[in-house]
Amino acid sequence: MASYYNEHTILFLDGKFVKAADATMDLYSQSLHYGYSVFEGIRSYKTTEGQTRIFKAEEHFERLRNSASALNLPYTWDTAELIAATYEVLEKNSLQDAYIRPVVFAPANMSFVQNTISHITIQAWEMQPFLGAKLLRVMTSSFQRPNPKGFKITAKAAGHYVNSILASQEAKANGFDEALLTDMDGFVAEGPGANMFYEKEGQLFTPATGNILPGITRATVFELCAERGIRVTEKQITLDELKQADAAFFCGTAAEVIGWESLDDVTFKKNWNNALSKELQEAFRERVIENHREAKPAAIEQTGILVEG
Ligand code: PMP
Repeated sequence: MASYYNEHTILFLDGKFVKAADATMDLYSQSLHYGYSVFEGIRSYKTTEGQTRIFKAEEHFERLRNSASALNLPYTWDTAELIAATYEVLEKNSLQDAYIRPVVFAPANMSFVQNTISHITIQAWEMQPFLGAKLLRVMTSSFQRPNPKGFKITAKAAGHYVNSILASQEAKANGFDEALLTDMDGFVAEGPGANMFYEKEGQLFTPATGNILPGITRATVFELCAERGIRVTEKQITLDELKQADAAFFCGTAAEVIGWESLDDVTFKKNWNNALSKELQEAFRERVIENHREAKPAAIEQTGILVEG
């Protein structure tokens, strides 16, 4: 297992910066017993000019708020305050290329009734910059994504990830790199922790919203395509149609943009190096380390870490 912290690591817990090794949570928490918490996966990058920048920080913390609200978890923090706290966590741990994990969790409560308070932690650990050229062998999972009528599927809720864990472990046990899950009607949905696109004759296609987490990276791929005049269509996608694609990729905060070699051992037609998808992978890589793209939120000025305009 990866090592996420050591005796020097500092995390943010309910407004305080504390040593990870000393931080505690209540073992009677409703979150531990029922998977009832929400979280975010965010990345920071060392920019081309050497500064530390959290990619799409506002979008991630707004999604955290929306996830909490969807699950009736009290949420009392403001986004600028949490972004400032996150930059401070990065600074205190001397991190630049990092994975950042905020979690909003419940107090002790064995019943199903709503709580009056929530807790929040923000943790960060080092992330290797960009996975690069490795292509994935993907397997169609025997697990489907949760029924959106049974869960708030657009919320990033911890409990949903039992489904992700089962699918990912099944794919690996069968010798594949990652799983592709369908929705309850058998249409292509997403990976255990990433959205997907396929490329066919110079256009991109991706599952419509409704059965997926609408990813922030997915939205970035839309932006990159719009800037390049590449047409993207959101639709219901069948597995057969996907296997006829020229190329395909996963995209997500942790995965970034990562190409597929094959689906169920059916190899994609185009050499990844000649695919439009590869150009988008490179464009994404440049976008995350750009220095001047996002305006600096006012609350962050004081930390002095983020000095872009
Ligand atoms: N789908 C699922 C199930 C995920 O866990 C993630 C990762 N958050 C994504 C899609 C991609 O979302 P994002 O680009 O916002 O990280």
